[in-house]
Amino acid sequence: MNIHEYQAKALLRDYGCPVSDGRIVLTANDAKTAAGELDGPLWVVKAQIHAGGRGKGSFKEHEAGEKGGVRLAKSVEEAADEANRMLGHTLVTHQTGPAGKQVNRIYIEDGSDITSEFYLALLVDRVTSRISIVCSTEGGMDIEEVAASTPEKILSFSIDPAVGYQGFHGRRVAFALGLEGKAVRQCSNLLGNLYRMFTDKDMEMLEINPLILTTEGEIKCLDCKAGFDSNALYRHPDIVGLRDETEEDPKELAASQHDLNYIALDGEIGCMVNGAGLAMATMDIIKLYGGEPANFLDVGGGATKEKVTEAFKIITSDDNVKGILVNIFGGIMRCDVIAEGVIAAVKEVGLQVPLVVRLEGTNVDLGKKIINESGLDVIAADNLSDGAEKIVKAVKG
Ligand code: ADP
Ligand code: MG
Repeated sequence: MNIHEYQAKALLRDYGCPVSDGRIVLTANDAKTAAGELDGPLWVVKAQIHAGGRGKGSFKEHEAGEKGGVRLAKSVEEAADEANRMLGHTLVTHQTGPAGKQVNRIYIEDGSDITSEFYLALLVDRVTSRISIVCSTEGGMDIEEVAASTPEKILSFSIDPAVGYQGFHGRRVAFALGLEGKAVRQCSNLLGNLYRMFTDKDMEMLEINPLILTTEGEIKCLDCKAGFDSNALYRHPDIVGLRDETEEDPKELAASQHDLNYIALDGEIGCMVNGAGLAMATMDIIKLYGGEPANFLDVGGGATKEKVTEAFKIITSDDNVKGILVNIFGGIMRCDVIAEGVIAAVKEVGLQVPLVVRLEGTNVDLGKKIINESGLDVIAADNLSDGAEKIVKAVKG
């Protein structure tokens, strides 16, 4: 689960990390009051969406060449004007995809005088089972370009959880960033606090880009992206309270409400499968036959008819889906339950695209019978590759 920059900065503040003073703005009327509460002389007006690259982004409603989702202002009035110009408009960045995201919240923050911009991130490294620290002197809006063309400018190392954070980790980062004087100690303290926050809150990712050195020689977190392990959210009600459902894919949201493992993808073949391994194999074989999966969906072992119905509805609500492959191996899951769920769903939402069903395992004969007698226009498949071949053919013609 991800949260907004302003929410992440409030957490950073709680953990003693240096951030600027700022105010959140939800309606146009609030903008002037919010800006007026900050000291100036420089205000930064920032669109809050769950995507990076806002500074270099552009608004769909605005003329080409107009500033993006991070704007400087020199007065309270100007800050309020910029906020109101962005509220309700659609910001497109390299991370939002061409559809962009509607801006419903604006953060107005004290402007900083920047000497240098650095990159700093903490991540869970699944290969080493440790928290990795990634840092670079080349922070700011071009970090993707740095990673692609000069990867040697990005340093990374991990912290052994048995030892935990130690001062030398922080100094290592400080020296890698070329910091001097009081900034070295500040950086070391910051890294210790970030590590504490990361582990306390079961985070997956914590990215500060840019971390800056101000003209006064202080370091400060100017942007923050924070992601949390959804499997651990049950023990963090405070974090769950920060969830902004308008930022999430509505299909993924519906799936999580019904306890389905669903991930939206870009292809045209919707998949309904039980078991993550079989779901992966199904996606692979669709690709092998020249198609592209529109989603990953594991209905799980003990799915009910209602859950299957819900899963089917989620798949068909995706306009990109040009065909559906149901691939079930009934072990704990019974094929007749799947068949009933599919039929119930089709009755409810209709079937506009070809549907290939491959059933195998527990109660397979009953499952096939239910489908055959339903009068639905279903293409039956005998095995996994037959199913994949048939659905790709049905979609591509
Ligand atoms: P994004 O990464 O989505 O583009 P950032 O918050 O990193 O958004 O802002 C982009 C750039 O805007 C930063 O690299 C920095 O140069 C500038 N910026 C952001 N916040 C401030 C601030 N409070 N004061 C001065 N400059 C800022
Ligand atoms: Mg940034």
